[in-house]
Amino acid sequence: MQAMFSTPFLDLPPLQSAAGTVTLPGSKSISNRVLLLSALSQGTTVVHDLLDSDDTRVMLQALRQLGCGVVVEGTTVHIEGLGGTLEHSQAIEFFMGNAGTAMRPLTAALAVLGGDFTLKGVARMHERPIGDLVDALRLLGCDIDYLGNEGFPPLRIGKPQLTLDAPIQVRGDVSSQFLTALLMALPLAAQQRDIVIEVVGELISKPYIDITLNLLARFGIVVRREGWQRFTIAAGSRYQSPGDIHVEADASSASYFIALGALACEQGIRIQGVGADSIQGDIRFMDAAAQMGAAITSGPNWLEVKRGAWPLRGITLDCNHIPDAAMTLAVMALYADAPTTLNNIASWRVKETDRIAAMATECRKLGATVEEGADWLRIHPLRAGAWKTASIHTYDDHRVAMCFSLAAFNPDGLRVRIEDPKCVAKTFPDYFEALFSVAHTDAAHIPVICIDGPTASGKGTLASSVAQQLGYYYLDSGALYRVTAYAALQKGLDLANDETQIAALARHLPVRFEGDQIWLENENVSERIRTEETGMNASKVSVLKDVRAALVELQHSFCKLPGLVADGRDMGTVIFPHAPLKVFLTASATERAERRHKQLISKGFSIKLDDLRADLEARDARDSNRSVAPLTAAQDAMPLDNSELSIEKSVQQVLTWWQSKQP
Ligand code: C5P
Repeated sequence: MQAMFSTPFLDLPPLQSAAGTVTLPGSKSISNRVLLLSALSQGTTVVHDLLDSDDTRVMLQALRQLGCGVVVEGTTVHIEGLGGTLEHSQAIEFFMGNAGTAMRPLTAALAVLGGDFTLKGVARMHERPIGDLVDALRLLGCDIDYLGNEGFPPLRIGKPQLTLDAPIQVRGDVSSQFLTALLMALPLAAQQRDIVIEVVGELISKPYIDITLNLLARFGIVVRREGWQRFTIAAGSRYQSPGDIHVEADASSASYFIALGALACEQGIRIQGVGADSIQGDIRFMDAAAQMGAAITSGPNWLEVKRGAWPLRGITLDCNHIPDAAMTLAVMALYADAPTTLNNIASWRVKETDRIAAMATECRKLGATVEEGADWLRIHPLRAGAWKTASIHTYDDHRVAMCFSLAAFNPDGLRVRIEDPKCVAKTFPDYFEALFSVAHTDAAHIPVICIDGPTASGKGTLASSVAQQLGYYYLDSGALYRVTAYAALQKGLDLANDETQIAALARHLPVRFEGDQIWLENENVSERIRTEETGMNASKVSVLKDVRAALVELQHSFCKLPGLVADGRDMGTVIFPHAPLKVFLTASATERAERRHKQLISKGFSIKLDDLRADLEARDARDSNRSVAPLTAAQDAMPLDNSELSIEKSVQQVLTWWQSKQP
């Protein structure tokens, strides 16, 4: 797929069903805890299945700055631990982005270790409260100053004078991350005596504390817990690397696919990486989804989900134990038979964005009636016929983006626009790819834009930029004819007389597109097929009826979710005759010859302009006069003469036409 991460929005076509298997990325909460614990430990830890995301990259960078040895090999990372002490004394400035799972525990660990540190983040990070953690750390003698607003990052951290005799008090009713941060930092100070932490107020998100305790135990730290009020770290505690450790997949990420199964899957969708016995609290989303109607089975490290009750059932639920995953229930609620009320979700207001407001606003855009209070949300279902086409704002919040992708299963066949789709990178960089790998829709619903035109009209540049803007796949059909001609000559075939053999070759053409590189079996032919000579040869094989027929299936196989931009000669007339937008791109022969000339010269090919123009006209004539699929504009194509237009202007024109085709 094209780099979806640069697109300002992603249009999800109406989706109808889902089936297959998804493998989920590692959990963000577990990944960042494991990274910090590995860094604080004695010895080297090999972390397997680590999530590769914004949050973990922030943490890894911070660990490198602290002097940890960090070696990344795909999703396996080797961390050489610091052994609980910091050797150097120079000032370090850390950039935390919007990564709460890095900011809180690092603040605590650095404050206990002591040094000269500054921790900053993006604007939103500077609006996320950290005062309760700082208060607790100051009480035990840490030296922390606010550099901006009281109670919020950025922070400066100095050297502490720890007094650990009295129990350390921390508020538990704002974010459990404060307690997690203390639990991970204080073993560093527990050499001489027991350290006691007391939670003030009702502790929220207890399951996240369970994850913390579970992982601390893996790193050699046993914490005595009395209810959820009092935690004791034993004197003599010392972080010890477990050697190897595997990161479970993210249970909150699983929620989108559990919902997907409940909404759209008759046979069962398999979710790989996390099972019902997960150490993550958000796995309990399963129970909520089952209450709404999902049919779920599970085994070690997997879940299987399909439709149970349909429509789903509206429920009323205290969501304190599944704060992140519960957002998914809000979108499932649109498909229910009665209103759904999500209670005890005050923590949503201080997450990546005010999630209560965000979910309410965006559900309303889809047409739903939504009521909200300080710590609750009630969503009324949407009946068929009542859905509205919406452009979903995502507030730089990965979960908002992922939740609302589920609205594409609406019964009204409406597309859903997700703004800033790259925000999913925070926890699930390949979320949309994973969704599209299991979601299905009629081929007729998959949007295709055809861009046909003569040689050197700039189709390739235009089509690939449009594809990139929309996050769609790109088909360079000319390359298939070029590769066919190249492969035929390599096999010693005669382009004029061996139609049957060339067609047989084309039918099973071992061609692969990887980014902008084209492979013929094990040979990278990207450069070789771009010569004028191969262009001419392509034009020769392209007049052969059987060869054209042999390449049809391959071209159709590019039509995949979320959409396709195809360039060539007969995309709009023959290959995708039902495409909703067809463009016929032209430029004067002089202009085209000059462009191609510049292009070839820049690649180091030497050729005369006049010869080039003659070649080009010969190819135009052959392409236009052949009996099969001649080069001609489809009746419903929009003509675009770009002789005088910049690439940006041409791209803008096509996007404007595309926009005008949307409901
Ligand atoms: O577009 P490009 O110059 O790469 O195409 C090479 C040749 O392949 C063209 O000159 C044309 O003869 C042939 N072709 C075709 N139908 C397409 C794409 C290319 O006949 N859809």
